Amino acid sequence: MALEEKREKRPPVTPMMIEEEAALRNGSRGLPPGPWAEAAGPRPRTTERHIAVHKRLVLGFAVSILALLAVTMIAVLLSVRFEECGAAADGPPRAGGNGSLSGAARQPPGAGQPPGRPDEEETRGGEAAEEEEEEDEDEEEWQRRRELPPWARPRLPRHLRPLHYNLMLSAFMENFTFSGEVNVQLEVRNASRYIVLHAHRMHIEAVRVAEDKLAGGVRVARTFFYPQTQVFVVVLNRSLEVQRSYNLKIIYNALIENELLGFFRSSYVLHGERRFLGVTQFSPTHARKAFPCFDEPIYKATFKISIRHQATYLSLSNMPVETSVFEEDGWVTDHFSQTPLMSTYYLAWAVCNFTYKETVTKSGVIVRLYARPDAIRRGSGDYALNITRRLIEFYEDYFKVPYSLPKLDLLAVPKHPYAAMENWGLSVFVEQRILLDPSISSILYLLDVTMVIVHELCHQWFGDLVTPVWWEDVWLKEGFAHYFEFVGTDYLYPGWNMEKQRFLTDVLHEVMLLDGLASSHPVSQEVQQASDIDRVFDWIAYKKGAALIRMLANFMGHSVFQMGLQDYLTIHKYGNAARNDLWNTLSKALKRVGKSVNIQEVMDQWTLQMGYPVITILGNETTDSIIVISQERFVYDSDTKPKDPGRGDNSYLWQIPLTIAVGNTSHISSEAIIWVSNKSEHHRIPALEEASWLLGNINQTGYFRVNYDIRNWRLLINQLTRNHEVISVSNRAGLIDDAFNLARAGYLPQNIPLEIMRYLSEEKDFLPWHAASRALYPLDKLLDRTESYNIFNEYILRQVASMYLKLGWPTNNLNKSLVQASYQHEELRREVIMLACSFGNKHCHQQAATLISDWISSNRNRIPLNVRDIVYCTGVSLMDEDVWEFIWMKFHSTTAVSEKKILLEALTCSDDRNLLNRLLNLSLNSEVVLDQDAIDVIIHVARNPHGRDLAWKFFREKWKILNARYGEALFMNSKLVSGVTEFLNTEGELRELKNFIKSYEGGAAVSFSRAVETVEANVRWQRLYKEELFQWLRKSLTQ
Ligand SMILES: [Zn+2]
Repeated sequence: MALEEKREKRPPVTPMMIEEEAALRNGSRGLPPGPWAEAAGPRPRTTERHIAVHKRLVLGFAVSILALLAVTMIAVLLSVRFEECGAAADGPPRAGGNGSLSGAARQPPGAGQPPGRPDEEETRGGEAAEEEEEEDEDEEEWQRRRELPPWARPRLPRHLRPLHYNLMLSAFMENFTFSGEVNVQLEVRNASRYIVLHAHRMHIEAVRVAEDKLAGGVRVARTFFYPQTQVFVVVLNRSLEVQRSYNLKIIYNALIENELLGFFRSSYVLHGERRFLGVTQFSPTHARKAFPCFDEPIYKATFKISIRHQATYLSLSNMPVETSVFEEDGWVTDHFSQTPLMSTYYLAWAVCNFTYKETVTKSGVIVRLYARPDAIRRGSGDYALNITRRLIEFYEDYFKVPYSLPKLDLLAVPKHPYAAMENWGLSVFVEQRILLDPSISSILYLLDVTMVIVHELCHQWFGDLVTPVWWEDVWLKEGFAHYFEFVGTDYLYPGWNMEKQRFLTDVLHEVMLLDGLASSHPVSQEVQQASDIDRVFDWIAYKKGAALIRMLANFMGHSVFQMGLQDYLTIHKYGNAARNDLWNTLSKALKRVGKSVNIQEVMDQWTLQMGYPVITILGNETTDSIIVISQERFVYDSDTKPKDPGRGDNSYLWQIPLTIAVGNTSHISSEAIIWVSNKSEHHRIPALEEASWLLGNINQTGYFRVNYDIRNWRLLINQLTRNHEVISVSNRAGLIDDAFNLARAGYLPQNIPLEIMRYLSEEKDFLPWHAASRALYPLDKLLDRTESYNIFNEYILRQVASMYLKLGWPTNNLNKSLVQASYQHEELRREVIMLACSFGNKHCHQQAATLISDWISSNRNRIPLNVRDIVYCTGVSLMDEDVWEFIWMKFHSTTAVSEKKILLEALTCSDDRNLLNRLLNLSLNSEVVLDQDAIDVIIHVARNPHGRDLAWKFFREKWKILNARYGEALFMNSKLVSGVTEFLNTEGELRELKNFIKSYEGGAAVSFSRAVETVEANVRWQRLYKEELFQWLRKSLTQ
C-alpha cells in the first residue's frame, strides 16, 4: 500500500514581499475582463446535469426498494429451506422486516450491547428469552474458566482454519447495494461449538453449516454479531470434530459504501454524464465489510469468486475471468479462476465501465491498465503500462521467483484512500498516481508515478506472495516496497542514482525528523485491537523500515543481501513469515560467504527500540590517533520526558555499524567499519594527523546521525569550501542534514549549519542543494513570522544568488521527452529557482510574473513544465486577485490530474486572507475538491505564514466534520493533524493546542501527542536559540 507522499516541500513565498510586488499588483499588468472572470466562481450546484442525476437517483431508489423487497422474500424462502436442511437459520433478527437495508446492514443488531439481545426479543418473543439464557450460560462458563469468550478476544480463536472460499456476488450499481453468498471450507484444529469469523456492516440473511457434502448439516443453535471485535458468531448444537472439514454457507447483503473502505463506490464524469464504479479496499481490516471471512493475514486460503452485474459494466478480480454467463435480462455473471493461497487483505474486485490497454511480459504475464475511457484514449496510461511490463521482468530476475499469477491489472480510480493498493493481480491506483500525460507532466510528477508503481509491484512478491504473519511487522512488507521504489527506479533510469542519493533526502532525512521525537514508536509495534491496525501504516513503518533495510543491505553487501532475499521468498512463498524468519535466512546467506553476524541480535535493537542514536566522535587531545566514540538517543526536545516512563533515554543502546574515513585537503581514505555497541568506546585511527578530519557514516548508509568536536566541524567546513568533491555527494548532503538537525535539537551551535551552506555557491550536484532546501524549510517556518525574519531571508538569498544566475531558467521544450531530459540538472535548476522565488529574488519574481501574464493574455500556457508549480504559486502570491481567479478557473477546466493538483496548491499561496478563507471553506465541498485533496489544501494554507492561523482555526472549527470524514483512514487524519500543527511555534498557539486536545472528540490521539511535542520543541527552540541565530546572522551580513 502506498501512502500519499509529498515528495518535495515547497516553501510558499514568504511574507517579506518588498515594494515591487505592490507595484506589480497595482500597476502595469491589467487583466482583461475575459470570460474566465465570471466563470471562475464556484459552480452552481443545481445544473441541469444535477437535476438529471437527481431524477435518476429517485428512480434508482424506487427500484432499490422493490429489489430489496424481492431480496428479502427470497431470503425468507431460503431461510425456510435451510431450516428444512436441519440448520436453524438465524440471521440478524431484523431480516424480513420492513426491507430497509441500510439500517440493518450498516449497524449489526446489538451493536454496543451484549450479543443480540433487544432485537431478538423484538422479533422472536419467547425464543429470545431462551436464547438469552443460553447465552448467559455461555458467558458464565467462560467466566468460570476465567477466559474471554472466543468472540471477545482481539484475535480470532485458532481452532478453525479456512481452506477455500467460494464467493458469489451480485452488484446492484443502480442503488449501490450488493448481495453475496460465501461458502467457506473449514478445517477443524480443535473441537468447538463456535464458529467465529469477521463480518462487519452487513446484513446476514441465512447461515448453514454442513459436514462435507454428503454427511449433511450441523444444526445452528443461534448466531449473533459481536461488534466490539467486528465478528459474527455461529453457535452450533454440537461440536465440530477435529480433522474433519465442514462447509459454512452465509447469505448476506450490504451497501456499496460511499466511504472509501470495503466495497465502495466512486464516480467520474464522461461526456457530461456521471458514471459510477465500485471497487474494493480491504487492507488492512476491511474485507470483513464485503464478505464474512477470517480477516487476518495468517489465514491464507484459496478463493473462487463470481460476480454478477449488469452487462453494461465489466467486472475484475485478482484472477482472470474463466467464463461469463449472460442472462436474457441484461445481466452477466463472470466466474474468475481460483486464486493461489492468499490472505484476505489483498483480495479485490471492481465493477466499472472502464476501457483498457494491454501488454505482455517476456514470461507471458498479461498486463492491462484499466481507466476511464477518455484517459485511455488520450494515452495517459501508456507510461504506467510500459514500465510495469519492464518492472515485472526486473523483479522476476532480481528475486529469481516468477510472478505468480497469469495477469496483472492496474486500475486507475478517481477516489481512493491511499495512493495505491497492491491487490495481487488487481492493483488499484488513484488516478494522480498512475495516469501521466507526458506533454504536461513535470519530472517530479513522473517520479511520483514511477515510484508508486515500483512500490506496488514489489508487493506482488513482498506482501502478496510472502505475507507478514501479523500487522506488527507491517514494515516487513512496507519497508521493502519503499526501499525497492529506489532500487526499481534505478533499474528504469540507471543515471538517476536513486538508491544512493535521493533515498537520503526523501526517506532517511525525512523519517529521522519524525523518529527524533520522544513520542515516536518502534518500527515493530504491538497491535491488539482492530482499531490499532490502521495506525501501524505510518512513515515509521515505511521509511524507517526502508532505511533499516538499506543499512542492512550495506553492511551485508548487496549481492549477499540479494541472495538472502531470494532464499527468503523461495522458502516462504504462498505462506507467511515473521521478522525472525527473514533474519535467519539472511544470517545463513552471510554464513555461506564466510561471515558471521547475528543479524537478529543486531536488528532487534533497531526494530524493537524507538528512535535512533547520535554518534559523537571526539578527537583525543593527548594522543592524536585515539578517538572517543559515544552514542546516545537523539531527541529534538531533551526536556520532554521519554514516552516509556520505566526507561530513560540513557538506557537506549544500539549495535551500530559505523563506517569511518580520514581525509585531508585532497584525499579521503577508504572506509573502515567499527561496530559500536557501548555507550562510549576508544578506538585507534592510525592515519589520523594534525590537519586531517574524520568523517563518519560514509555515504549515509547508516540510520543515525554523527556529531564531531567543533575543531573537526571546522576542518570539514574548510574542506567543503576549498574542494568539496573530496567528500562524496551523499556525505555532503548528509553533513548538511545532520548539522541543521543537530543545531535544531541543541547539540550544535546554530551557526555551523549556516556556515556549511556557504559552499553551496560552488555545488553543482542536486542532492546537497535538495538536502539544504529541505533542512531550511522547518527553520524558515520557525522564523517566518518573526520581526527579524528579513535578516535570515537576506542570508539565504545571498547563498542562492550566484547559482541562480549560473543556471538560469529552463526553456519549454514540449517535444523533448521528460525521460530523456537530464534529470539531475533539471532538478537542480528547479531547486535553485524554488529557493530564489521563495526567498524573494527579484529576478525570479519578475520572471514568474511575466510567464503568468503571458499565459493570461495569450491563453497559451508556455510555462516550462518542471517549474509550473513554482511559477503558479509565486504568481498567486505576488499578483492581484484576478490571477487567483484565473488559476481557480483553470483548476476547474483542466482534466489532466497532475495539472489540477498543482493549480489547487497554487491557490493556497495567496497572501490575501479572504481568498485563503474562501478556499478553506470550499475545500470541504466534495463537488469542488476531491476528498483526498481537501487535506492538502488545509495543510498548504497552514504552511503559508499568512494562512497559518486561519488553517489552524478552520481545523479546530471543522474538526468534527474532518474527523468523521477521515477518521477511519487514520493515515489521512494524522497527516492532517501534523500538517496543520507542525509549524505552530508560539506559547499562545501551544496553549490553544493543549486546550483543543482537552475538549476534542474522536481518534488521532497519537497524532495529537506528537503534535504537542513538536510545538513544544518549536517553542523551546524559539526561547533558547532564536536570538543566538539572529546575532550570528547580523554579524555575518555586515562582514
Ligand atoms: Zn505498500
